[in-house]
Amino acid sequence: MLPFNVDLQRMTFGKQLLIDDLPFPSTEIQQHAENGFITFRNGLTKTRVQTQCVRCGNHDPSWFGVFPCARCGQTCIYCRKCLMMGRISSCTQLISWSGPEPPMLEREAQINHEHETSLTLVNEARSTSSLLAWTGTLSEGQKYASSKVEAAFLQQTELLVWAVCGAGKTEVLFSGINQALISGQRVCIATPRTDVVLELTPRLKQAFPTINVASLYGGSPDRHMLAPLTIATTHQLLRFYQAFDSVIVDEVDAFPFTADDALQYAVKQARKPQSALVYLTATPSPKWQKLCRNGKLKHVKIPARYHRHPLPIPEFIWCGNWNKMLNKSQALPKKLLLWLQQRISATHPRKQALLFIPKIDLFPNVLRILNEAFPGINIEGVHAEDPDRKNKVIRMRNGETSLLITTTILERGVTFPNIDVAVLGAEDRIFTESALVQIAGRVGRSADCPSGTISFFHYGKTEAMVRARQQIIDMNREAKQRGLVD
Ligand SMILES: [Zn+2]
Ligand SMILES: [Zn+2]
Repeated sequence: MLPFNVDLQRMTFGKQLLIDDLPFPSTEIQQHAENGFITFRNGLTKTRVQTQCVRCGNHDPSWFGVFPCARCGQTCIYCRKCLMMGRISSCTQLISWSGPEPPMLEREAQINHEHETSLTLVNEARSTSSLLAWTGTLSEGQKYASSKVEAAFLQQTELLVWAVCGAGKTEVLFSGINQALISGQRVCIATPRTDVVLELTPRLKQAFPTINVASLYGGSPDRHMLAPLTIATTHQLLRFYQAFDSVIVDEVDAFPFTADDALQYAVKQARKPQSALVYLTATPSPKWQKLCRNGKLKHVKIPARYHRHPLPIPEFIWCGNWNKMLNKSQALPKKLLLWLQQRISATHPRKQALLFIPKIDLFPNVLRILNEAFPGINIEGVHAEDPDRKNKVIRMRNGETSLLITTTILERGVTFPNIDVAVLGAEDRIFTESALVQIAGRVGRSADCPSGTISFFHYGKTEAMVRARQQIIDMNREAKQRGLVD
């Protein structure tokens, strides 16, 4: 075979990059293209009906602009949607590796850069029976789902893992990822949220300590790392092209609904034509639930939590026109104040309370009223733009805060050991079915305090509230039938 530059191979394999992304002279890239190692694709495709950005899939005319292009000397069209990753215009080419695949399991080799070491390590790693250092045990529900994930990776099929909040869905992936890595696959976990990338990275590094794990989000240092296991935001996925043998999309429902198409496009581009795709979620959208029911999407449910206690079922409490009361009389519904009073004065055991409200601009009023109603009690509020967000969550976790007021930013990803949860204005449209299931999922997560209450204070029941409660009841029923709860 003709010689090629290994660094260029490692940097462009499974990627779609701009020439400006690469620290190599264009003559060298051209030479590799002539020898069949590099492929160019046009950055934009144009038909009579539409222009589409090949990198991000955008085809909305309002997201394209024009500029006088110095490179081609013409007026060029460019994509504004993915502009922050470098400009894609009519004369831009996306560069991908089309030569031999670089070996994946070679951690030390990458550091030493010596070919011989690399080969020995690859062979050694391939001959070991496991790369997985995690030694925990799976619940019955997790075990079953884990076997399905393994099969999906092996057979390169699609699967939705529908696991209730607190089921422990990450551990369900370990065995499948292990098998995939041993067989030389390249695996990616993608998620819409940077928070989740940051939370998953150390867990996966601990579980697979001998391999490279690339952690990709806006501004992360691992941008050019070639790794057998990649954890990336769905946005970072746009740099990849036919890279992965197995892709896992975590928290698929956390993505803004309107951006669903963009997510699907990014995942489709990043996976190999022959590959596995596993979705993980606690709360699939109504559309996805329907696909599952009709058998159009293969799925496996984990209807019970790891600690084998059933999920708390939401209680609906009508509280009148709370919004008007808040604005006109600077007051909160009596029923809510009573609910809070009961938690604040509870001592055996002590309870903390988490109160969700629908809008940020309600914070000042709600906080002032509660501080007046419960003097001397530690009450805090936290929302998306709060610079002290992290510390407030820590203080709540440590039990220093009695009552935390929040918006949907805390609907997922946080665990407080012993809380009761209330939603004020549960009828607001921000509280979708999946948001409400996630919020209810904050209660009773720890094995030490597996119980707790979830109350929806409302001014008129919504479809979302009813469906959320039904979803929880259905999961509990299935858990009982399958013997997954005590
Ligand atoms: Zn141009
Ligand atoms: Zn684009």
